[in-house]
Amino acid sequence: MLADSDRVFRNLNGADDWRLKGARDRGTWINTAELVKDGREAILERVKASELRGRGGAGFPTGLKWSFMPKEVGDRPHYLVVNADESEPGSCKDREILRNDPHMLLEGSLVAARAMGVARAYIYIRGEYWEPLERLDAAISEARDAGLLGDDAPGGAFDVEVTRGAGAYICGEETAMLESLEGKKGLPRLKPPFPAGVGLWGCPTTVNNVETLAVVPTILRRGVEWWRGLGLPKNTGTKIYSLSGSVERPCNVEEELGVPLRDLLEKYAGGVCGGWENLQAIVPGGSSMPMLPKSVCDDLTMDFDTLASHRSGLGTGGVIVMDNSVDVIEAVRRFSHFYMHESCGQCTPCREGCGWIYRVLSRLAAGEGEGDEVDLLWTITKQIEGHTICAFGEAAAWPVQGLLRHFRGEVESRVKEVTDVKEVA
Ligand code: SF4
Repeated sequence: MLADSDRVFRNLNGADDWRLKGARDRGTWINTAELVKDGREAILERVKASELRGRGGAGFPTGLKWSFMPKEVGDRPHYLVVNADESEPGSCKDREILRNDPHMLLEGSLVAARAMGVARAYIYIRGEYWEPLERLDAAISEARDAGLLGDDAPGGAFDVEVTRGAGAYICGEETAMLESLEGKKGLPRLKPPFPAGVGLWGCPTTVNNVETLAVVPTILRRGVEWWRGLGLPKNTGTKIYSLSGSVERPCNVEEELGVPLRDLLEKYAGGVCGGWENLQAIVPGGSSMPMLPKSVCDDLTMDFDTLASHRSGLGTGGVIVMDNSVDVIEAVRRFSHFYMHESCGQCTPCREGCGWIYRVLSRLAAGEGEGDEVDLLWTITKQIEGHTICAFGEAAAWPVQGLLRHFRGEVESRVKEVTDVKEVA
């Protein structure tokens, strides 16, 4: 388990001062000029060597992502976009960074900017995050007054601008976010071209998650070897997990990647309601990740590769716990309502399929399923998966696939007997 001395986020629960003075007392902004003085390539190589993987859901190597930006800044400026549009059901970790330690994000953005030739970053924050927004704005003002942002920022001119989202989940998808920042409808677009080549206003752009950026200065400050000593190979460092659902004390907590699920829940969240034996299933990484039954959870560790080996994923680290009192079909039906509502509608498989999934699951949850609807449900998810512009299609399909993979018998039990067979004369 993670030692207190190895915690990156020292004010995650908001018990301490979130302003600049408190942040500095915890180590943020204390030697930023030193961290960036070796220049772009040196920062990039250190972040690559740390094997840091993005904390926004996909787990893509951060240093590699940064390396896709052009080496030289020509006539097109480079941009960093901070994805603070945290909207995944079950995930509320970035909110705590934004409201309890916003300077960690600002310093991390500056360091990332130095690794990519960026002079301006845009923070796209979920519109509902009102208190985090107020504190972020205040932190930006403090940083400008202290010469940490602006023309005199460590390493040269750098500033940030904050934009509020208007409530669309799909704007968390990076190309939709760029469209929205440009003042257009937040509709995803096909890749390629990737944002590192053609991003915001057609300029090279990298989109990073809040938590990903916030940990970078600590990695550089304490050293790559320290970071790699936490977690597992290729799954290095710490992660913030949001623990919710059927647990005694829902919370956000930082732990190592690779922590056993049971230890995570019992040490920090007071355990599963009714005890471990009362566990039915978890959703391990926000609502889009396929659920896993207790038989898998008994020996499960929380890291990218282990969860992928179980055909699920770490996602955002938002762990939704379901005890035996939970109707798993009803739970996934509610997820599917969310995805039906949030589909942007560009792709037919997603636009129509999400509605079909919701309607079939609604019948099944009510015990009104008919005929071969269980097979039909599976087929619909397969016709969405891999056939859409963006990964939203998978996000909508995977929770249903997880349900059918592990609870098919339960789902089939909701298919009512066919009682209206016409009598043959
Ligand atoms: Fe829109 Fe869904 Fe297509 Fe993504 S997959 S572009 S959300 S319709």
